Amino acid sequence: LSKFKQGLKKTHSKIAEGLATAVLGKKEIDESIEETLEELLIEADVGIDATQELLDTVTEKISRKEVGDLDAVMRALREKVVEMLSVSKESHILEDSRKPLVILVVGVNGVGKTTTIGKLAKKFKNEGKKVILGAADTFRAAAIDQLEIWAQRVGCDIVRHKEGSDPSAVAFDAVKAGVARGADVVIIDTAGRLHTKENLMKQLEKMKRVIAKVIPDAPHRIVLILDATNGQNALSQAKEFQKITGITDIVLTKLDGTAKGGVVIPIVRQLNVPVAFVGVGEKEDDLIPFNVEEYAESLFE
Ligand code: GDP
Repeated sequence: LSKFKQGLKKTHSKIAEGLATAVLGKKEIDESIEETLEELLIEADVGIDATQELLDTVTEKISRKEVGDLDAVMRALREKVVEMLSVSKESHILEDSRKPLVILVVGVNGVGKTTTIGKLAKKFKNEGKKVILGAADTFRAAAIDQLEIWAQRVGCDIVRHKEGSDPSAVAFDAVKAGVARGADVVIIDTAGRLHTKENLMKQLEKMKRVIAKVIPDAPHRIVLILDATNGQNALSQAKEFQKITGITDIVLTKLDGTAKGGVVIPIVRQLNVPVAFVGVGEKEDDLIPFNVEEYAESLFE
C-alpha cells in the first residue's frame, strides 16, 4: 500500500469496505445500493451536493444496465471522482520555479500549520533547494519556538523577531533575507487567530503589500492548511479564508486520523483550488503530494 493510501485507510474502510460489506453475497447490483452509498458518503463528509452527483452517476448507469456488479460500480465512481477533482491548475507548488518562491501559509490554530511548514521545508530541501522560514505568527511565543525547532530539524534558516512584533516586519525581513542569501523558497507562517475577521484580513493584506515591496509579484502562493478531522467545518473555514485572501493551494492535514477524507471533494469543488498535499502523520516525511487517481482508488476500490 502506498503511503498516500495508507494515510486514507480510515476513509477507505468507511466507504469502500462499507460498500463491499453491504452488497456481500449479492450477485447483481440494483438501485437499493443507492441508500447505502448515500449514507456512507455523507458519513465520510463528501457533502450533500457531491454525494448527489455521485449517486446520480451510479443510478443512471444501473438503470441503463451499464454496470451490473460492484466492481463496475466502483469503477464508475472512481472515474467520476477523478473528473470532479480535475480543476485547472497551475504548476504544483514543488515545481514552481520562481525564485525566491514566496509562500504565505494561512490557517486556524491547531490545524497543523507549523508542522506542515516544517514538512514542506523538508520537501524543498530534498529537492536541493535553499529554504528560509519567516516566523510571522508573532502572537504566540510558542509558535515562534516551534518553528525554530523545525528549522533546526530540517536545516534551514529562520527569520524571527520577538513575540508581539509586527508580523509584516517579519515577512518583509524574511523575503529580504531570501533575496540577499539567494534562497529558492521563503515560507512565511501567519497568525491563526485574531480578534476579528477584519483584523485578520487587514493583517494579511498588509503582509502582502509589504512583501510586494521586495518582490512585486509576491507572495506567489497562499497555502491554506485545513484539518481533515474537522470534516465539513474545514469546508466552512476554507470558505471564510477564501473571502479574505486568494488561496492558491490547500493542504489537508491529519487524514490518517479520520474517516472524513471524503471532504476533499466538496473543498476542491466549492473553492476550485487544488489540494497540493495531504498530511498523513506527525513525522517530517508524512506530507504526501495529492494524487487524484490514488484518492479515487482509496474511496472506491
Ligand atoms: P498549528 O497550531 O496549526 O501550528 O498546529 P501544529 O503544527 O502545532 O500541529 C498540531 C498538532 O497536530 C501537533 O500535535 C501535530 O503533530 C499534529 N499534526 C499535524 N499534522 C498532522 C498529520 O498530518 N497527522 C497527524 N496525525 N497529526 C498531525
